Amino acid sequence: MTLCKCEHYPAPLLLRRAITQRIRQTRTIRPTLTVLSSQADELLTLLQCPACASFWQESLAWSWGGKRYVYRVPPISEEEWLVEPYVQPHELLVYGASMANYLEMNEFVESSRQCRFEQCHDNAIDGLVLCLHHHLASLRKLGLLPQLPVGRPFAPYQWEPSPEPGENR
Ligand SMILES: [Zn+2]
Ligand SMILES: [Zn+2]
Repeated sequence: MTLCKCEHYPAPLLLRRAITQRIRQTRTIRPTLTVLSSQADELLTLLQCPACASFWQESLAWSWGGKRYVYRVPPISEEEWLVEPYVQPHELLVYGASMANYLEMNEFVESSRQCRFEQCHDNAIDGLVLCLHHHLASLRKLGLLPQLPVGRPFAPYQWEPSPEPGENR
């Protein structure tokens, strides 16, 4: 039996209030953890619970007043983590919300023509030369849509890491 409470803190749901709640809980959790490594800009920290050896990552949640919050992540070596830290739940939340908003405001209908993107077999959107996937990727490249969250995926979080134009699917 461990003395820590890591098990009591599941991955935050991708809801504003879940992140807010975790920011509050972080005041209790954070002092029980040991820092393993920090990214050079110190925006991300890798931590570990000395009691149960769980790994945690700490982020700054920008749209929450830049407050820090921690969440459990799968075990990882410091070297690997420094190369690519885990994706940040608040970024997934902000990205998902803005994309949902965009897709709701725009109606996309498939045409019978094939997407002009090389090796893509999907149908282009009516009035455009690209399929929805490649259309969104090109808007993202132009900075007209929010950038995909960066970072190493981990359960239970999922998002569609669509490749940018120029990459294969
Ligand atoms: Zn623990
Ligand atoms: Zn396509």
